[in-house]
Amino acid sequence: MPRFIPGSVFLASWAAGWIQPHVPVLTAPQSRDMASYPLIVGPPTSLRKPLKIPDRLLLGPGPSNLTSRVMLAGGLQMIGHMHEEMYQIMNEIKDGIRYAFQTQNKLTLAISGSGHTAMEAALFNVVEPGESVLVGVNGIWGQRIVDIAERIGAKVHQMVKAPGEYYTLHDVEKGLTQHKPVLLFLTHGESSSGIAQPLDGYGDLCHRHNCLLLVDSVASLGGAPIYMDKQGIDIMYSGSQKVLNSPPGTSLISFSEKARGKIFNRKTKPFSLNLDIKWLSNIWGCDDNPRVYHHTPPVIGLFALRESLALLAEEGLEESWKKHREATAYLHKGLQKLGLQLFVKEPVLRIGLLGSNATKANVDRVILALKEALQHCPKNKL
Ligand code: PMP
Repeated sequence: MPRFIPGSVFLASWAAGWIQPHVPVLTAPQSRDMASYPLIVGPPTSLRKPLKIPDRLLLGPGPSNLTSRVMLAGGLQMIGHMHEEMYQIMNEIKDGIRYAFQTQNKLTLAISGSGHTAMEAALFNVVEPGESVLVGVNGIWGQRIVDIAERIGAKVHQMVKAPGEYYTLHDVEKGLTQHKPVLLFLTHGESSSGIAQPLDGYGDLCHRHNCLLLVDSVASLGGAPIYMDKQGIDIMYSGSQKVLNSPPGTSLISFSEKARGKIFNRKTKPFSLNLDIKWLSNIWGCDDNPRVYHHTPPVIGLFALRESLALLAEEGLEESWKKHREATAYLHKGLQKLGLQLFVKEPVLRIGLLGSNATKANVDRVILALKEALQHCPKNKL
């Protein structure tokens, strides 16, 4: 429960539009006292041109194109972030995240910020300075977690593997026994190499060693099966701009009861006030207290996220996983027909195209473009 801050009720009421703040009106003598300078920066001519956005098909590991329903949500009028209707939308987002993550965790919410913000929210809240953290580094996302954990003064132990490799239960057990970490980090879909990390059994193993399991599912959520509760994952985060086809700027996060217990029993305050889960838990209605003002979330981004999650729920997780599996298999066949070798060796452990862009027609376009590029590429540059 966030501490009571004098004036917070006033702020909350004001933000909700219930009361008008008393703002003194400037009288003539006061306004004469105001400083006045000639402007040294004029209105930029670049802003006089109309906004022009090219029509681009986005087929990388994110961001992905928006669906028309999500674009419509982005064009809606603002409402206040503390209006009842907004709370309702936030509750629906929480339901959508619980479905996408396959979790019943009470502490489930969206973070204001992209995937990196969710990474920081996870570490800032769960880890205290001096605690031991074990990180699977088989690509860029493990490296980033190492950097964040070092910044908060954790004792960081890296399990380094070549990009495209994954961690076996044996690798993890060795690290847990040696370093006795409070947290293990693994990336489910490592977008820098394409490997998908198996997750069955890793949660139970961590819990036997008094360690929490943190999983990054930014690139894989909705595209490959993941079962937060069944797989014993304690903290999981994901992003809006990948399979969910939402604009970047919001991310998804959930904490198990074990993780929640560790956060609420911390001895030190988390470094970030903005990402303090006790506050966020309150504004997202995850505790039993009335919601108070903490920060202004990206309301329109949340409308978009709500619609993306609604689309995923309508399509169904199993159908979405199947669509991605089929498009990926079709892509891999096409690449091999071009004479290319796949970077990730084991077929079941590869991840691919995102959300509504995961179609055969898009794969055909990719293969054709690649074929043309290869024809113009000198052999010694391959
Ligand atoms: N984790 C993974 C696996 C990612 O692919 C990305 C984005 N490429 C991130 C984290 C970071 O997300 P963002 O760019 O939204 O901060």
